[in-house]
Amino acid sequence: MISLHEAQEYVLSNIRPLEPIQLPINQALGLLTAEELVSSLDVPGFDNTAVDGYAVHAADLLGASPTTPVVLQVSETIAAGTISTRPLESGQAVRIMTGAKIPSGADAVVMVEDTTGSPTATSVQVNASVGAGANIRRRGSDFRGGQPLLPKRSPVNPATIGVFASLGLEEVLVYPRPRVGVLSTGSELSIGGELSDGHIRDSNRPSLLAALTQLGAEPVDLGLVRDDRDALAAAFENAATTCDAIVTSGGVSVGDFDLTKVVLKELSHGSMRWMQIAIRPAKPFAFGLIGSTPLFALPGNPVSALVSFELLVGPALRTMMGSTLPFKSPVQARALELLRGSDDGRTSFIRTHAAIVDDELTIQSSGEQGSHVLSAMARANALAIIEPGEEVQKGELCPTLVLDQWQPYPASLSTEDINLSQTKE
Ligand code: AMP
Ligand code: MG
Repeated sequence: MISLHEAQEYVLSNIRPLEPIQLPINQALGLLTAEELVSSLDVPGFDNTAVDGYAVHAADLLGASPTTPVVLQVSETIAAGTISTRPLESGQAVRIMTGAKIPSGADAVVMVEDTTGSPTATSVQVNASVGAGANIRRRGSDFRGGQPLLPKRSPVNPATIGVFASLGLEEVLVYPRPRVGVLSTGSELSIGGELSDGHIRDSNRPSLLAALTQLGAEPVDLGLVRDDRDALAAAFENAATTCDAIVTSGGVSVGDFDLTKVVLKELSHGSMRWMQIAIRPAKPFAFGLIGSTPLFALPGNPVSALVSFELLVGPALRTMMGSTLPFKSPVQARALELLRGSDDGRTSFIRTHAAIVDDELTIQSSGEQGSHVLSAMARANALAIIEPGEEVQKGELCPTLVLDQWQPYPASLSTEDINLSQTKE
């Protein structure tokens, strides 16, 4: 057996970031930028009002108060998007709406709440004084032309997309979504319709396709491939030429007589490395290159396949997507019950339900820990990491990998709902 660290290092040593591409800004959500963003202009582009009110000469309102109000003539009304037609003279005010450009001559805006008068009146009574510059958002106060805004490798989030739009950018240079082909192999897998005796449904392919979507990659469904030498070779060769990476499941265990192994050995020109990783679940794993396309061969057991994906495929794909920090950091979570590691030299990744209880991240086993028990994985949103032979007592902290499906809102499943005891694989 090799350590998880060694397996991860081996995979990453064979992975390169994809060539950056220009994408429409609304397709870049979740991706990393591939160049520094420097502002090409001042935003806002003009001084404008932060409030609804009246643009004034501050000097006209010296000493104004509810008991000593000042009356100004309203020279015009401007909404956001319209501009004033003449300079403001002393003794005048311009009725102005949030976001509208400050009229020339005005040096402050008094809030409508500090005035008395109707929106159609030709004069307004002002009940407060204002300092020069009050309620004015200055040109360039968000950012100035030439100012660095986002470093290279910034994640594109909704606000980032807003910044691109403010700059008038229609496209942005990002690391692309890898196209990742997913196929399933195994004579026991049913193609559809009624299940014949001894057959099972292919759950890995839909799971892995969804995991790819969740990660921000572009999943490509390559279907179910029969255990036939030529069919397998054709499927893998096609995947290698049309995709940036390939994920397959099943047929990588020791003593497995699946043809997958034989075919992959040939197609990878011997570069496939078959590993036994000291983790539970997901011990068997293989990685190699077909041409220059990375291929991840995951174990067939559904929980193992997803845990392999989390620990080995995810970091590799995040590297292809430009990340230089592709590994998740475990966080400390308080165990609500005894959690036991395995005694066979493997680090356990126990499927748990994580929830915030009394302002603290807590974990509890999400059910049976067998590597075929997909339902416990379905209820899990975190993996508790327990070293071989160790136990985490109820109330102790445990390093935990939070899965992408964890959300910090109140748990949809309460801890009472998950009253299933943890058992060994
Ligand atoms: P293997 O890694 O091929 O030895 O498969 C281990 C277990 O995973 C066996 O019980 C297989 O039937 C099961 N398995 C393999 N592929 C899939 C799949 N695509 N969906 C669901 N179970 C699978
Ligand atoms: Mg098999």
